[in-house]
Amino acid sequence: MVRKGTVPDLRIPPLNPPLSKGGTKRGVESGLSPKKAYLSEIFSSIQGEGLLAGLRQIFVRFSGCSLTCNYCDTPESRVQSPECKVGWTFPTSQESGVGSRENYYNIPNPVSPEKLTEIVNSFQTHQNLHHSISLTGGEPLEQVDFLKEWLVELKTGDSPDSTTSLRNVRKSGTVPKPKIYLETNGLLPAHLSEVIDLIDIIGMDIKLPSVAGVKPFWNLHRDFLKTASKREVFVKVVVDSMVAEDELMLASELVYSVDVNIPFIIQPRTPIDMDAGSLLRLQEIVTSRLLDVRVIPQLHKFLNLR
Ligand code: SF4
Repeated sequence: MVRKGTVPDLRIPPLNPPLSKGGTKRGVESGLSPKKAYLSEIFSSIQGEGLLAGLRQIFVRFSGCSLTCNYCDTPESRVQSPECKVGWTFPTSQESGVGSRENYYNIPNPVSPEKLTEIVNSFQTHQNLHHSISLTGGEPLEQVDFLKEWLVELKTGDSPDSTTSLRNVRKSGTVPKPKIYLETNGLLPAHLSEVIDLIDIIGMDIKLPSVAGVKPFWNLHRDFLKTASKREVFVKVVVDSMVAEDELMLASELVYSVDVNIPFIIQPRTPIDMDAGSLLRLQEIVTSRLLDVRVIPQLHKFLNLR
């Protein structure tokens, strides 16, 4: 059972969709940017993968991905859907510390930058609740024109800067702006270059053909990582019992050729079909080249979270 604690200024999210600037709840809005995005879902949850695992994030899941990985756990986001699901699950009883309630609604696709900002801001109901906004998919960089416009708006908008100290936040009652975190398949280096200055942290996949069931992308991944290394970046490699060790070594060499310090996450596919010895061996292979090598499973699957 969850223990009761002192939780200052904790408010539940709005029970209804936020009003758009024109005062309407949905539909085509006039005077908005022509750039719109196809999104699959927008929600608040705990990050379950990679270096930021355990942190609370606002997830913006983009629709569309040109890959077909064997282990894809969001196949619905690979295609464009007419609607985007918005909301989160939140605790209902702060007194007893138990229970939860779902609060979801749909908005029509495509979504304008203004609408997305409005929704993201409506999630910021609790001081310091969200560490970052996760741009995920699908593949967010396949809609780079929208990203460029939206991230500029988000970064230059009215909400306070991410450098605002918690003390000042408490004084002013305002909420710090979360960092922008990009989760990507690492295949569109030219698109990354267009938005790199607007991204704070990058989690980049390297696809192993033996596990993902796709062709090798070593050169594209290397070009991508070179650009990504201008920001905080880590690499994530999904493995299962089919993994070819020489491919894992190639991935290690690729990261080594850019920067030996870049964290390298070995993520066993869920459900895990490997024994402890196999995972230890894979870590030993990568540590022969790199300095920061971690084995991290998908935590959100263990916690029954989205
Ligand atoms: S890159 Fe990601 S979204 Fe695309 S198919 Fe692979 S796992 Fe799924």
